[in-house]
Amino acid sequence: MAQNSSWFFPNVSTEIGYKYMDRPKILIVEDEFLIAKGLARKLEKLGYEVVDIVASGMEAIARTLELKPDLILMDIVIEGEFDGIETAAKIHEICSIPIIYLTAYADDQTLERAQETQSYGYILKPFKERELHAAIKMAIGKHKKDREIAGLLSQAENQNQEKSRYLNRASHDLRNPMTVIQVSAGILKDYGNRLPEEKKQQHLDWIRVSVKTMNEILEDVLILSQAEAGKQRLNPQSINVIAFSHDILQEFHPLATDKHTCQFVSRGEECFVNLDVKLLRYILTNLLSNAIKYSPEGGEICLEVTCESDRVCFQIRDRGIGIPPEYRHKLFKQFERADNVGDIKGTGLGLSIVKHAVDLQGGTIDIESQVGVGTTVSVTLPTAGFCQN
Ligand code: ATP
Ligand code: MG
Repeated sequence: MAQNSSWFFPNVSTEIGYKYMDRPKILIVEDEFLIAKGLARKLEKLGYEVVDIVASGMEAIARTLELKPDLILMDIVIEGEFDGIETAAKIHEICSIPIIYLTAYADDQTLERAQETQSYGYILKPFKERELHAAIKMAIGKHKKDREIAGLLSQAENQNQEKSRYLNRASHDLRNPMTVIQVSAGILKDYGNRLPEEKKQQHLDWIRVSVKTMNEILEDVLILSQAEAGKQRLNPQSINVIAFSHDILQEFHPLATDKHTCQFVSRGEECFVNLDVKLLRYILTNLLSNAIKYSPEGGEICLEVTCESDRVCFQIRDRGIGIPPEYRHKLFKQFERADNVGDIKGTGLGLSIVKHAVDLQGGTIDIESQVGVGTTVSVTLPTAGFCQN
């Protein structure tokens, strides 16, 4: 007897299997009313929840989208335009739900067609209850694993895309300074003896700044690739952190404009601590470079270093454009930049690497900022205690 519309089967108490909450939801696609009814009873008894029984392919597609069952039991010869195999193919195009064919037909051609729809099983009628239970459990388990693998693959794919996006960006960013070097070196070679001294110096400065920029980009690439490969190891060494930080600020003087003033404040006496010098240099240079470039109108740039018995705190303050509150949650994400940067150049990588360098040392980073007023970045790094000079 054929059914024309879908109908809901009442729950029967469960004897085997799942707790009420975990009961896998099954949709039955079967146009023989008595068979469908018997099957639903068996499934309920086995601990499954039969969410609906439908008789045609179109209904099966609609109810699948609506009810999102965990599994579909699909007869091959059903009512309507599509048979069970065509219906399964259409369902697979729109969602990923395991389908088991349940049919009396088992000729090779049908089996081949069924195989093409990546079915999770094929049970011949008449079937035994246990056989059905095992097939459903296997299918649900296998589908879960397939989804986990698909998730991992897409995660790996995303990471790969991120990496190539980053490498594309980095190689693009390398081109600008390379062009500057090429052009300036060419001019110096061809016209060097005719150029006034001041012009020569300007070209030499451009070359020097370009080499520095290229170096920074390459260092970013190196640090990021080491971080991604989990290969970065801490290499703490004894330094006078106050003198070290002061020297780094000095290096930044030429980058600051005459509208900036650079202030160094230190608290604590001579402060020899164990820190990873390379990472510390990376943290301070990135934060100072941000402080200067994001305060185009100038103002005071302050680096304050406070030594305590078990940690060192660095505070970098500027009176620049500030960070809009809506951007705050993206601060440490690669390639993200706030809307108020205008034409200030940057790749959006510095802070993500700074965060990585701070985390690696078990430190903390905190950023306070107000648009149009300025930004204060505080980094605290634990030290292995004071050590003797
Ligand atoms: P780069 O990779 O060259 O450092 P970037 O400076 O754009 O590029 P980040 O240092 O990661 O990248 O900073 C991310 C974003 O955070 C910046 O683009 C800017 O929008 C905002 N930002 C960071 N520091 C400051 C600051 N001191 N003042 C205002 N905005 C800042
Ligand atoms: Mg930056």
